[in-house]
Amino acid sequence: MASLRLATRVSSSAMIFRRLTVALLSGSLIFTSPFVASDVTGNDLPDFGDSSGSLISPAQEMELGAAFMRSVRSQTTLVNDPEIHGYIEQLGYRLVASSDTPSYPFTFFVVDNPAVNAFAGPGGYIGIHTGLILTARNESELAGVMAHEIAHVTQRHLLRAYESANQMSLPTAAGMIAAILLGVATGNTEAGIAGVSAVQAGNIQRQLNFTRANEKEADRIGIQTLARSGIDPYGMPSFFERLHQSTRLYGNNVPEFLSTHPVTSNRIAESMSRAERYGRGKDRNSLEFQLIRARLQVLDSDNPQEMLRQYQSMAKKRDAGVAEQYGLALSYWRTGAIDKAQKTLHALMQDDPDRVLYRTTMAEMQLEAGQTQEALQLYRDTLSLYPGDLVVGQRYTAALIQAGQATKARDYALKMLRNKQARTAPVYELWAKAASISGPAWETNIASAEVYFLYGNLQLAKDQLQQALKHDGLSQYEQARVRARLNEFTQLMAAREHK
Ligand SMILES: [Zn+2]
Repeated sequence: MASLRLATRVSSSAMIFRRLTVALLSGSLIFTSPFVASDVTGNDLPDFGDSSGSLISPAQEMELGAAFMRSVRSQTTLVNDPEIHGYIEQLGYRLVASSDTPSYPFTFFVVDNPAVNAFAGPGGYIGIHTGLILTARNESELAGVMAHEIAHVTQRHLLRAYESANQMSLPTAAGMIAAILLGVATGNTEAGIAGVSAVQAGNIQRQLNFTRANEKEADRIGIQTLARSGIDPYGMPSFFERLHQSTRLYGNNVPEFLSTHPVTSNRIAESMSRAERYGRGKDRNSLEFQLIRARLQVLDSDNPQEMLRQYQSMAKKRDAGVAEQYGLALSYWRTGAIDKAQKTLHALMQDDPDRVLYRTTMAEMQLEAGQTQEALQLYRDTLSLYPGDLVVGQRYTAALIQAGQATKARDYALKMLRNKQARTAPVYELWAKAASISGPAWETNIASAEVYFLYGNLQLAKDQLQQALKHDGLSQYEQARVRARLNEFTQLMAAREHK
């Protein structure tokens, strides 16, 4: 399925993520309808229109969010590593559970971009830059920024942006918002923003820049969320402080987050006094954060040899911890020293045998070393320890394909897809790959259509469904489903061309 190589802007580091794994993005995009909203009852969603007339309904908000996410995927490279993505998602959900709207359907994703930044899009889509994860010194600092972005959503700070968006078609507005938040130059026709006038673009740009009152509120609510979740509220002032100090080092290259979130001494002092009111939280850092940051650092590096030198020197130090050893193992792996890599990781597993991250990393190494049966067994053991785990499930499915067991891979992909949380581009991609080897041709078309759709390419998605209908073997039910889906894609395309 060469046609499924969809990443449009693949940097060298993104290539590594792609080589190691398949794309992973969470979310609740569903198969039967492009609109998440149709699957979410309006009752547990805040009504964004209630404060200023019927500006945007919860259903419209969800539609805009889904279109925004497809646009993001077509405009930038996301981190496809299931382990890194899974970690960010877990931390995000922990914070959401302690926010003012714990039932709001948030989605977290990691953007492969060294700029220190994070942003909130419509529909609760929160983007975290790799640069932010690498800059944070501990979990509470990362969580501080994430809690701040979550608060922008729960406090409905995007309302003003919807006002301008309302004057455009939904896909156009979504593409515009994505381009601005990602910092991508406008004029990208693929994103469906060609017809946007400079005035409209300027309006949205202005309205996406939150007011100072919004920022203050997001800090206040964010700190409250941190405290409620048991994460140290000092994470927020601590991160602000370091960003503030770093501006001197950055010169003109001010971190992205600072250009939209100016950190003044006043702001640091305010968040500090709020944190003091709550007191120290019990969770300041986590081993998982340190491991994930080491993973990102090594896998994202353009210079694996230099990484290896750094981790060799760090691992020798007296205060070297587990994360340094894990980074060393990954560095050995990336520089081709697979024996040393496995040995180093094996030592870590002796002390902490149930850690999923160690297990999937070891299995990946085994696959590369040709120890296919051991790898498959390790995945199966891990899945019986953590049934339904999507990170392990995706790794396992990809390994089955690699091992030439496409039928089993297809079955497992379909099993995962029964879970709404799994209905993401990477899982559909796995299904498409497995089906292309072992399934009927029309099934490959249906799966590929979903992948193209989630990457924002409606025309290719439609083509795939039209192909599917040409094959024999589809049941009446399947035919009806494909036609209905085709109809949805056609309507979305019409909406894009409208206005
Ligand atoms: Zn903000």
